[in-house]
Amino acid sequence: MANPKSRHTRCRRDRRRANWKGRIPSLIKCPECGEFKLPHRACTSCGMYNDRKVIEVIEKTEI
Ligand SMILES: [Zn+2]
Repeated sequence: MANPKSRHTRCRRDRRRANWKGRIPSLIKCPECGEFKLPHRACTSCGMYNDRKVIEVIEKTEI
């Protein structure tokens, strides 16, 4: 079976574990309304994706 030849050092192990956090979620500007949105997602404020409306956006109401 495939086995590691030798174990990694503490330094190498800890360097690997130190890297799992700290990813900033990338945001892009919506071309329709200029609002920040997640890439490859429909815009949450106007419901547009690829120049067409894909979801109906319910206006936020103050409660
Ligand atoms: Zn938008």
